[in-house]
Amino acid sequence: MEKRDYYEVLGVSKDASPAEIKSAFRKLAKKYHPDVSKEPDAAEKFKEAQEAYAVLSDESKRRQYDQYGHAAFDQMNGGAGFDFSGFDFSDIFGDLFGEGGFNFGFGGRGRSNRATKGRDRLVRVDLDFEEAVFGCKKTVNLDVNENCSECDGKGGHGETSCSRCHGTGTITTEQRSMFGTFMSRATCPDCNGAGKAYKERCSKCRGTGKVKVNKDLEVKIPAGVDTGNQLRISGKGEAGANGGPNGDVYLEFNVRRHEIFERDGNDIYLELPITITDAVLGCKRDVPTISGSVRLTIKEGAETGDKYRLKGKGIEDVHSYRKGDMYVIIKVVTPKKLSRDQKKLFESLSNTDLEDSSFNKIKKYV
Ligand SMILES: [Zn+2]
Ligand SMILES: [Zn+2]
Repeated sequence: MEKRDYYEVLGVSKDASPAEIKSAFRKLAKKYHPDVSKEPDAAEKFKEAQEAYAVLSDESKRRQYDQYGHAAFDQMNGGAGFDFSGFDFSDIFGDLFGEGGFNFGFGGRGRSNRATKGRDRLVRVDLDFEEAVFGCKKTVNLDVNENCSECDGKGGHGETSCSRCHGTGTITTEQRSMFGTFMSRATCPDCNGAGKAYKERCSKCRGTGKVKVNKDLEVKIPAGVDTGNQLRISGKGEAGANGGPNGDVYLEFNVRRHEIFERDGNDIYLELPITITDAVLGCKRDVPTISGSVRLTIKEGAETGDKYRLKGKGIEDVHSYRKGDMYVIIKVVTPKKLSRDQKKLFESLSNTDLEDSSFNKIKKYV
């Protein structure tokens, strides 16, 4: 039979991107995998697609093929085209057929008799400053593997014992070496130690016993959480195996910055700009806090960096419910643009004696 063009096999154009090639192969693999497909020439088609993908997914092999066609690999493999037997397809089959890789033969891989807890899941959740400070309700969307309802997570119907290990879950092999013959015992690869097989593969989960479910979790997030904090939602993770409990879902928070409030643990910092005149003469200012405005009296002679503490105006601790404090940090703003009148006022000021003793220290060294 005349060998078909690799691009034609995958049904992609000559300038297809790696992503297009991968996705075309995934489609064909799904359609023609001999373990899944009912088409009569599935095995042949599957092999053809595997070969095409092994070449076209590899940048340098693809270049060779573009230049010389099938002849590029003919000498290497006695005219049979590219030999892809060492190619690793696991990343494709892994996500194509669920966890634990592809399931060759009934009985399934990745299962044993033991009840095991399902895997935990970590989900990152972005929160606004206020959502973190006051708590909130969030809907978290995630995909989890749940036990297949069709087969109760077993992967098939009509349970029998595994024919390879006769239900023991282990196989014994003889190994010859220069020191003699050894018997070695290993987990049965067909049933992966479960000792069970099924007459009929479950079509809903393709024998994996798991189905991917997209679900929304309604979560109440407590007041006071901060970036990096985790919240555990028990039993909402991946399904357990053999009656084991489900894994948990962990939410990890990332709190967005606030426009004016800076958070340090349960304390809040606010930088408050004031004019030179307000700094010199003192003033009263309305200051925003997370629980409404507060009138703050700023003493005369204020300087940049002066710190005022507003007790209990910080964030409630997520565990102890004790409230942190808020600190107002003064920033004296020097005007950059002055009108002629304002300039005159400053000039007349500079003629008056406004210096204090600290100026003299420097003068000694001039
Ligand atoms: Zn077995
Ligand atoms: Zn099933």
